[in-house]
Amino acid sequence: MDITTLCIHGAKNNTHNTGAVSVPIYQSATFAHLGVGKSTGYDYSRVQNPTREYLEQTIAALENGIDALAFPTGMAAITALMELFSIGDHIIVSDDLYGGTLRLFENINKKNGLKFSAIDTSNIEEVKKHINPETKAIYIETPTNPTMVVTDIAAMAELAKANNLILIVDNTFLTPYYQQPLNLGADIVLHSGTKYLCGHNDTLAGFLVTNSKELSEKLRYIYKTTGSCLSPFDSWLLIRGIKTLAVRMDKQQENAMKIAGWLTTQEKVKKVYYIGLPTHKDYEVSKRQGKGFGSMISFEVDTEETARNLLERLNLILFAESLGGVESLITYPIYQTHADIPLEDRLARGINEKLLRLSVGLENADDLITDLAQALSKEESYEI
Ligand SMILES: *Cc1c(COP(=O)(O)O)cnc(C)c1O
Repeated sequence: MDITTLCIHGAKNNTHNTGAVSVPIYQSATFAHLGVGKSTGYDYSRVQNPTREYLEQTIAALENGIDALAFPTGMAAITALMELFSIGDHIIVSDDLYGGTLRLFENINKKNGLKFSAIDTSNIEEVKKHINPETKAIYIETPTNPTMVVTDIAAMAELAKANNLILIVDNTFLTPYYQQPLNLGADIVLHSGTKYLCGHNDTLAGFLVTNSKELSEKLRYIYKTTGSCLSPFDSWLLIRGIKTLAVRMDKQQENAMKIAGWLTTQEKVKKVYYIGLPTHKDYEVSKRQGKGFGSMISFEVDTEETARNLLERLNLILFAESLGGVESLITYPIYQTHADIPLEDRLARGINEKLLRLSVGLENADDLITDLAQALSKEESYEI
């Protein structure tokens, strides 16, 4: 079945037998037993809830995994994921990860005895050099945030397999509609469901998906024990959001393509990071491993003043953190999403005062361009 159809009809299970076209919200903490040792399949909602289960099965089907677990945020999913590891375990991670993920590794997981090497994972030779007897996993994001570095997932999976490592891929930016890391050899996919999967800037969620029975069992145990699970209502909002994932992503990508092209022609725009531009250094890898390029664009303007003016003057595009929703949002990575990373590291990765990150939404592309054009064109200076 095509993924577009899967988005709408989801996983077919029999959690509802009323004919309801919309999956019911089972707002129940607990479920009555039919007798001693007899269960309806549901006992207590921390372990499983029919609405959440429907969502999880849908996500598993979209990513071609055997199991998916739904969390209240992306960070909660990564926190649970880290419980797979023990004191002394070493994990190789991309140095350009989502800021919150690096903060978790650096300030929480390290304190609990895990070791990390944050390196350029788009360079496979670098990754090879960092593997040691304690290494247990490779954790990547592709494309990365905000400078859109792409890692060859299949090549990384091959390296992981050869060294008995778990390959974890954060697939938030492209979603299974454009990229399916499990099919390319990854072991675990994770999502901030808050972004494209939800798609409406109104709900937080996170997911872990795997195609390994062993990992599924371990993660389910951690899940029911640590208790970080998505509520029935938020599960329903996610089910609803996913129905339009395909059309949203296609239209947002079309808008992004137009805007990225326009940005490259602007005098005050010095660099454009969009993986859909043939001039992007990883364009060929992106084309090979995915079905699309998504709608995240970062761009560098000529001065900090231009960047600050732009953020103040935009009318339609909202200056707000987050991404992937129907409303276009712009952020200032150096001061927002990546504020916790040491300044030197930020600058070394191209995250400077001139860099802005744009999540292109579903508005008319020409309206968005008009907004960017007026915000870039005004001349008066900004008072710092
Ligand atoms: C937002 C985000 C996260 C964290 O997810 P939350 O839902 O905000 O907790 C993790 N990874 C990426 C790539 C993200 O964009």
